[in-house]
Order: sequence, then C-alpha cells, then structure tokens
Amino acid sequence: MRIGLLGGTFDPIHYAHLFIAEDARSRLELDRVLIVPGGVPPHKKPYAASPPEQRLRMVELALADSEHLDADDTEVRASGLSYTVETLRAMGRRFPDHEIVFITGVDAVAEIGTWHEPDEVVRLCRMVAVSRPGRTFADLEDAVPARLLSRIELMVTPEIGISSTSIRSRVARGLPIRYLTPNHVVDYIAAHRLYRDA
Ligand code: ATP
Ligand code: MG
Repeated sequence: MRIGLLGGTFDPIHYAHLFIAEDARSRLELDRVLIVPGGVPPHKKPYAASPPEQRLRMVELALADSEHLDADDTEVRASGLSYTVETLRAMGRRFPDHEIVFITGVDAVAEIGTWHEPDEVVRLCRMVAVSRPGRTFADLEDAVPARLLSRIELMVTPEIGISSTSIRSRVARGLPIRYLTPNHVVDYIAAHRLYRDA
C-alpha cells in the first residue's frame, strides 16, 4: 500500500493542488492522497494567513466529491508550527505498512535544505517533486545539497499557472476566481469575506 501526502498552506486550495495530487496518485499508483494544511512557514510570516480551521474547511469543501483525495487535519490539530518531519513520523505510526510518498512542487522542495531535519525527511518518505511554472528542475541543483537532491524524484507534470497568492490578490482587486478553484471554495471565500484586503 502506498499513500501520498501533499502539504502546504492552502490559503486557499486551488485546481493546481488538486491536479498534482491526482496526477501523482495515478502515475505513482497511490491508494490515497492526503492533503494536509499546515502552519504558515517562517518565510511567509509577514503575511497574515487565514486561520488553520478555515484553510482546512476549504480543503474539505474542495474534496467533497473526490474519490481518492482526503483532507487531513494532522497539522491543524498540532497547532502552531508543524514540521514536515513530525508529520512524516505521525503518518509512519498511522500507516505502518505503507510507503509514504511526499508530493511537492519544485518551488517548495527547493527549500528542503532549510527544513527541520531534512535528512530524516528524505529517509522517512519517497520525495517527489512536480513541475511548477517559473521554476525548472535545474534550479534545484543550485538550491539543494547534493545528498538531499539525490533522494528527490522529479516528475514532469503539465504546468498550471495558478497560485494561492494570485487568488488572494485577485479577490482583493475584485477579479473573478471561479474556475481557478472549485465552486464551493469560491462561495466560502465570498461568504467569509476572505482576502478582501490581501
Ligand atoms: P502561495 O502562493 O500562498 O505560496 P501556493 O499556490 O504556492 O500558495 P502552497 O500551499 O504554498 O500553494 O503549496 C502547497 C504545495 O503545492 C507546494 O508543494 C507547492 O509547490 C505546490 N503547488 C502549489 N501550486 C502549484 C502549481 N501551480 N503547480 C505545481 N505545484 C504547485
Ligand atoms: Mg507556495
């Protein structure tokens, strides 16, 4: 059995997240993919993220009729800053017979050298980096120490130019976001007046 994890801030979740999770699931033959909203990483601190419960709720709404993707509250429940290494340890206890595949965009994994216990991270999972517009896999060679880079599998995926940052900024400017993220998420953002002054 093989389980996929996609971690991130998901403020808000969008179609690129859903697509990379689904593409990885199908190509890597994962039984399920858990989408795990987490704390806000230190480099994003100046920006005030939406509360974890709201980000989790939007993930749940986005996955309402998804067959193989699940919202996971491990990091939201852990409250405060959650380290990937701790999440992987928790998943290892919860799924002792599974191979754990950690899915990440090439932009996010470029920073793996700065994560907490990066050598443990790559030991505890199979790390798979997917394409993201504006970044190339070659960028990783400069950004990631060789011993970690050798443990990262690269998976070329269609590039989808959607980011949560662009969604927040579009909402603040009064531009449409429908079809960048599922309708239930669009409606939640409107109902809770999120990102009005992002
Ligand atoms: P923000 O703009 O706030 O950083 P984001 O769109 O990058 O938001 P995150 O929650 O930071 O979303 O990302 C979660 C994971 O999804 C990361 O591994 C990131 O690289 C990946 N990801 C997000 N958007 C894309 C995309 N368009 N293509 C490929 N990977 C993506
Ligand atoms: Mg990001």
